[in-house]
Amino acid sequence: MYVVLVWLAVAAIVVSFGTRVLEGKTEPASSLFAVVALALFLGVAAAARVRRVPLEWIEHALLWGATGILLANLVARLYVVPPDVSSVEAVVATLLWFPMVFVFSTVAFDGERSLRYSAAVYVLFTLVTLPHAFASLGSGLIVSGFGLLLQAYLVYAVTIAALYFFADLQQRMVAMEETARTMRKLANTDALTGLANRRQAEEQLARELRRAERYGRVFSVLMLDIDHFKDLNDRFGHQAGDDVLVDLSRRVDAMVRASDTVARWGGEEFLLLAPETPIGDAQRLAEMIRRHVADNGLAGRYRVTVSLGVASYRPGDTLGSLVARSDAALYLAKRGGRNQVRLEIVPGPPADLG
Ligand code: GH3
Ligand code: MG
Ligand code: MG
Repeated sequence: MYVVLVWLAVAAIVVSFGTRVLEGKTEPASSLFAVVALALFLGVAAAARVRRVPLEWIEHALLWGATGILLANLVARLYVVPPDVSSVEAVVATLLWFPMVFVFSTVAFDGERSLRYSAAVYVLFTLVTLPHAFASLGSGLIVSGFGLLLQAYLVYAVTIAALYFFADLQQRMVAMEETARTMRKLANTDALTGLANRRQAEEQLARELRRAERYGRVFSVLMLDIDHFKDLNDRFGHQAGDDVLVDLSRRVDAMVRASDTVARWGGEEFLLLAPETPIGDAQRLAEMIRRHVADNGLAGRYRVTVSLGVASYRPGDTLGSLVARSDAALYLAKRGGRNQVRLEIVPGPPADLG
């Protein structure tokens, strides 16, 4: 970024100096300032490339270096070098460059600081030029410029205020976006486990249902519930229960595909949404999770088991009907003795008992 700015500045200096050469208007003062400015910007570009110099130093070097060069140029034109017609052009050119310093200050430093630096540059500019402005009143000097300087004071003040206003506005917008992102995340996340919460799971389910309907795809829903969780809470305390919930979330999340969604559906009940997964694969996944929990325990020392009910999308399904089938399957697993996986009961015509 700064390297680009620096090269633009170098290009501008070369062009402005080059045009003077072409016009045959070179004189020692402008040559000197062009050389100093070039040295400053090239030095900064080199420093930025080496990267051993802190960025803040580079920013200050650019800001105060450019300010120094412009002010020195003004001092030379207004007070030192005997004025002639080309001085007028040089002074006007210098005045044109000053807003670039304010722009740079706004880009490089944030908020209050950029305003303070711009104000400091403005004060320096005023201090350097004001004596000339008054001295030139009614003097008939070639480089009189009272009106010109007065306009510069006004235009610069407006420029600084406008730059500050827009930078401030932009900062507020960035902060608002950040807040909105945080709020969105909070609204969709379960505070304890960091998993998707029920609201997000329902949104995801609805989206998957639409996709399956539209493209004739299949997907599965796994409902998982911890067995006898109330007993664990009662025996070891609520904190132990929380630890188990967090550990289970982490493990299940690590076992599924990145495209799957694991959500906390309710207290100790979790929903897994597995896109592009037919019922057989979903059953294998459920069995893998069940066995992993039964074999390893949770949160270090609690022997825990889980029951799972599995259902797959069928044409005509709604969010309610699909979740109800996986819930019914989970209920079967509980009734069957827990620590097991059950598949949905497929609704169909009653079996012919003939
Ligand atoms: P089952 O095998 O039939 O599922 O029995 P269970 O004890 O697991 O089921 P039940 O629905 O009777 O109890 C669920 C318990 O989960 C009750 C509630 O206190 C506990 N629970 C729900 N949310 C949390 C939580 O965030 N932290 C803790 N520690 N416990 C929770
Ligand atoms: Mg339970
Ligand atoms: Mg439960």
